[in-house]
Amino acid sequence: MPRPENPHLIDTFGRVATDLRVSLTDRCNLRCTYCMPAEGLDWMPGEQVLSDDELVRLMRIAVERLGVTDIRLTGGEPLLRPGLEDIIGRVTALSPRPRLSMTTNGIGLARRAAGLAEAGLNRINVSLDTIDPKTFLEITRRDRLSHVLAGMAAARDAGMSPVKVNAVLMRGVNETEAVPLLKFCLAEGYHLRFIEQMPLDAQHGWNRGEMITAAEILSMLGGSFELTPFPAARGGAPAERWLVDGGPGDVGVIASVTRPFCAACERTRLTADGAVRSCLFSNDETDLRALARAGARDEEIADAWRATMWGKLAGHEINDAGFAQPIRPMSAIGG
Ligand code: SAM
Ligand code: SF4
Repeated sequence: MPRPENPHLIDTFGRVATDLRVSLTDRCNLRCTYCMPAEGLDWMPGEQVLSDDELVRLMRIAVERLGVTDIRLTGGEPLLRPGLEDIIGRVTALSPRPRLSMTTNGIGLARRAAGLAEAGLNRINVSLDTIDPKTFLEITRRDRLSHVLAGMAAARDAGMSPVKVNAVLMRGVNETEAVPLLKFCLAEGYHLRFIEQMPLDAQHGWNRGEMITAAEILSMLGGSFELTPFPAARGGAPAERWLVDGGPGDVGVIASVTRPFCAACERTRLTADGAVRSCLFSNDETDLRALARAGARDEEIADAWRATMWGKLAGHEINDAGFAQPIRPMSAIGG
């Protein structure tokens, strides 16, 4: 189908991508079992990673020419990116100013939260799958729970509220953590979101029969809390939300596998080495870094980005017989 003249990131299914996820680095200081192997991965060589100027240029093109209104910094672990505060300052100086958020494992956040907020970061999601130190060690292979908890409190104190918490439940590991995690988050004023485990780990260990589904999570929570559907419309947000015990606290479930929300997807993704992807699960990507390093003008880069998004598939196909896991793991794409 020929693409109509339109400056924005439209696709053939009528969706418009306004939400950009940018991976700042593929490196990480944790080794979550659902994400990467104990020994880590072969990190991208430094010269392959976008420089700060290249990164900010691509974000500027997204905001100025492609209609992107929201940018989320992720990775890998974005706090490991040198010069992060400077990048945040440059992105929030763009016009129109994008809303800027970050997903982090929270290590080192305690001492940086105030500076990140001051640089312009609006919101933060911290990943936390358990409040039990032993289970935290088992999942992340690092004994750092107290660092993460301190980071979350610092983010809240720095005004990045509500702090959102992302949790992945795994059978036989932390499945009994759903209720304690929610109690903890309600008490601290954090907004908890459970994410169904997806086939995006580097070691290809995901198993459909083993994953904890949204239905199971809701039934576990339903034993301790009264959940009522959240009154506000969901829009393009991936989380389905429920009020807990009448509110104001709430809980969300991102059921990417059992209740896919691809039809309302508003996302486009940029990897740390400058590839644009229309979906976490894409098998195609477009190398914008090569274009930029070959001297392409802003509008040429914008056109390549538009063409990639025009080719976005209807859905991720995890539930189809022929599903093939993407070659890049989540940590390299940006989760
Ligand atoms: N390192 C940061 C962190 O952990 O928040 C940012 C990158 S991480 C890839 C982004 C999010 O993806 C985290 O909330 C993590 O729990 C989630 N994630 C990683 N692997 C996943 C998987 N296989 N299925 C579902 N979520 C996953
Ligand atoms: Fe690192 Fe985040 Fe992956 Fe955990 S989920 S290993 S913190 S990138």
